Amino acid sequence: MPYIQFLGAAGTVTGSKHLISTTNDGDANCGTRVLIDCGLFQGPKEWRDRNWQDTPVPAKEINAVILTHAHLDHCGWIPRLVKEGFRGPIYASPATIDLCGIILPDSGHLQEEDAQFYNQIKKSKHVPALPLYTAQEAETCLQNFRPVQVGAFTTLSPEVSFRFVRAAHILGSCMAEVQLQTNGRIRRLLFTGDIGRVRDHLIAPGKVVHSGPTEGEVADLLVMESTYGNREHPTTDPRPELAAAVRQTVERGGAVIVPAFAVERTQKFVFMLKELMETGQVPRVPVCCDSPMAIKAVEIFLKYASEYTAEAQALIDKFGSPLQWPGFTFASTPEESKKINDARYPVIIISSSGMATGGRILHHLALRLPDPKNTVMFIGFQAPGTRGEAIKSGAREVKIFGDLVPIRAQVVAFEQFSDHADPPELLEWLHTFPQTPAMTYLVHGEPSASSELREILTKDLGWNVQVAQWMEKVEVK
Ligand SMILES: [Zn+2]
Repeated sequence: MPYIQFLGAAGTVTGSKHLISTTNDGDANCGTRVLIDCGLFQGPKEWRDRNWQDTPVPAKEINAVILTHAHLDHCGWIPRLVKEGFRGPIYASPATIDLCGIILPDSGHLQEEDAQFYNQIKKSKHVPALPLYTAQEAETCLQNFRPVQVGAFTTLSPEVSFRFVRAAHILGSCMAEVQLQTNGRIRRLLFTGDIGRVRDHLIAPGKVVHSGPTEGEVADLLVMESTYGNREHPTTDPRPELAAAVRQTVERGGAVIVPAFAVERTQKFVFMLKELMETGQVPRVPVCCDSPMAIKAVEIFLKYASEYTAEAQALIDKFGSPLQWPGFTFASTPEESKKINDARYPVIIISSSGMATGGRILHHLALRLPDPKNTVMFIGFQAPGTRGEAIKSGAREVKIFGDLVPIRAQVVAFEQFSDHADPPELLEWLHTFPQTPAMTYLVHGEPSASSELREILTKDLGWNVQVAQWMEKVEVK
């Protein structure tokens, strides 16, 4: 009997990794094994430790990876899978492949830096501390990627084929419709990856990539994300409050520090700042995007104009590439990054990682958190156990590079920028399904979010919904 095993993003929002196997026996020569996504566990150590565990099926016996999108919690374990012996193709949309080309080597670089840092301060229990994979290993695995256009069917084996449909989450993001031949009939499995906003919202401004996942999906078995399973997005426009927070910080002579993913969220925020500056709501202070990936990410965005919202297209038509906007700088070298540290004038610094789990944002936070003149502005989800969540929830100090840093800066947070659908939006999308899936498994959520969404879906739709458990195997009947 074919089965699905949830190797990650079950009980948590990171480490997305779902194995489809058409056979239950351990014979590598028989059946097909496919991974849907291959993400990195992030956040609490309990989860990060799982990045060091091998897959339950040897990596060399997995035939292919189907990748929904380029976020690290969906693609960040690919170099490790290749390191463990995986040699198959990795199917993804062309934009996802371009984004992985910058995200994965950067992740390898961060892994190396972390290992090096812990070796220097000798605070690791593992001596010497080793990187999960190196930048070079990440670079090498890019050769395994194969572009697949949205809507085109790809046959992996006589038993398994798939196609991508739009997920509207970030640039290039897709859902995977997998067709499985079993016992003489076809089973349709739909893996949503992350689902974007179902409609364009005025209250979710600055959106660069258009909303609207593909409607009318037909699935016998649905594996769906539940990040926002227990929260609805605010229905107020965040711009007036956000502009006020920037103005007050500038009046104090402080800096606004914005932890944001270098891909998508940074572009979204930059587009919105430009609009607020052009309309006079935010003073024209320098904006520094301190991320080695930011320039390359903007270049990739400019390549896929068909995915833009009309709003983003209008800004580009009027003001050209964000890389050329006066007052906006994109730091790529460490020297340029260090120069930002010296800025003693009001400035807006956008840097990653978005949950302050690593990257250059840590240097900016370590430097600016102790000063009450400054503001830390969160514009994205902060997973439990991350530094970002600690700062956002009012901690008085936070550990950065092994030292305790006091938090005296003002902390503000906005929830409107989410690239995930919330329960009313998910229901709106699920109502477009022409038939009820025999089974729906919820993944990619904190336990409370997944179980609350399960209740909502069961009550509203009457569907058979289960919350997937980590390492659980479910049969595809
Ligand atoms: Zn995502």
